[in-house]
Amino acid sequence: MKLAIGGIYHETHTFPHKKTSLDDFKREMYAGEDIIKFYQNTKTSPGGFIDEALRNGDIIYPTFYAAATPSGMVLQDAFEKMSGELLDRIKEITPGIDGFLLAQHGAMVTEDMEDPEGYLIAEIKKILSGKPLVVTTDFHANISRKMVLNSDCIIGYDTYPHIDIYERAIDAYAIIRKIIKEKISIKKAFLPAPLIAAPQAIGTSISPMKEAIDLAHKYEEKQEILNITIAGGFAYSDIKRTGMSVIVTFMGGSEDARHIIREIADGIWNTRDSLEVSNTPIDIAVDDALNSRQYPVVLADVADNIGGGTPGDGTELLRRLIEKKADGTVIVISDKTSVSKCFKRGIGEDIELDIGGKTDDLHGKPVGVSGYIKLLSDGSFHNIGKNMTGLENSMGKTALLVSGGIKIVLTERPTPPNDPAMLLSIGIDIAKEKILVVKGAIAWKTGLKISPAKIIYVDTPGLCSADLYSFDFKNLRYPIYPFNKDSMKIDLNDLIEIL
Ligand SMILES: [Zn+2]
Repeated sequence: MKLAIGGIYHETHTFPHKKTSLDDFKREMYAGEDIIKFYQNTKTSPGGFIDEALRNGDIIYPTFYAAATPSGMVLQDAFEKMSGELLDRIKEITPGIDGFLLAQHGAMVTEDMEDPEGYLIAEIKKILSGKPLVVTTDFHANISRKMVLNSDCIIGYDTYPHIDIYERAIDAYAIIRKIIKEKISIKKAFLPAPLIAAPQAIGTSISPMKEAIDLAHKYEEKQEILNITIAGGFAYSDIKRTGMSVIVTFMGGSEDARHIIREIADGIWNTRDSLEVSNTPIDIAVDDALNSRQYPVVLADVADNIGGGTPGDGTELLRRLIEKKADGTVIVISDKTSVSKCFKRGIGEDIELDIGGKTDDLHGKPVGVSGYIKLLSDGSFHNIGKNMTGLENSMGKTALLVSGGIKIVLTERPTPPNDPAMLLSIGIDIAKEKILVVKGAIAWKTGLKISPAKIIYVDTPGLCSADLYSFDFKNLRYPIYPFNKDSMKIDLNDLIEIL
């Protein structure tokens, strides 16, 4: 069997924000055989496709794959260059392949396109003219009708924090093989739910997503059900397709699929009030952490969630921790200017810096800090945790500044704190610290080897605030939960489509 692989992967935060350029993708942009070199032996989507091809003795055609850290709107010319290369390469190889596996996030938005991924899927389908197209997506995908209609199957991660990326790629591979070998005919039931929720509320080990995923797994055991994907959606995207959705990919009659999709969606819809969360004010959170009898305590800087597209230079927690002389604290701040000053000054020197708060005026002002430069690093590491294991990663140039009892890690690049190797690479072992500030909602949990004694979700200011009412949404598909919760009269049955 001959299968081609590729993708463009980005989670786009559409609120006022630095745009995402081609340069932002360049750190993880590969074509042809370089895709295999970079992703083989990593627990990623391309890594899963490559491993499965080897296991099955298939021939794989790597086309083009690019990924960037979540951030602002993707510049149109960047998307056009990347999609142009991907589509050209697919055109070239299509006569000789049996199908295509596309890895994408599912929440990308460009300057001119609300649904660039739906566009890509439709274009690839045209080129393939009848050959199957199977797509993997992130749990935070905002799935569009166009994406479902033009692909044979969409397979989303079942976990958040994401620890099954590789396994879902393997599922995708098995399904495309089945379509090709058994010539099965596939249908999809799609239910886009009129509901958005903050990332913190949709972890898959808590209600209501846990029950929904468990139910999906139960029904996936049925022979005629090929896959059930529940996408939690990415709330910080002010476009029409934003929201949770359920897709059931099946063979045979649609009655059963309708019943299943309805049961799963009902479970979430009927408990939707639990999706609204409120977090602890900064002063109380810091006092709670300092008064804890057990360590380490994690202070989650929810609103400066780098994995959700924020700059990672939020300072409000740093300011309070310094005021309170919170010894035994580790905090990471992305601040290129401060890193460069530390590199100029050198290891072992004292320095005064205005740290963080430089990208915008939404994440606090710079904080004046004097400290000692303990370590300088190139910031590179390989993931050793459960998220994208084995993948080459980098914080960019990194400086460890010690100010009193507080360790401030200054990084050139905003880096989601999702892997234990990140801090271990600069000699910090969280098990030996008292307080760790993480810039994330939930995904940071794969970044710790130990369970924290206490987790405090802090009500910090920023672009990923869990308070969805603090955003000026204009372009969602109204009525939508939670904004219209008091006046919504929705029959979920009306929203189900068989495609
Ligand atoms: Zn995600």
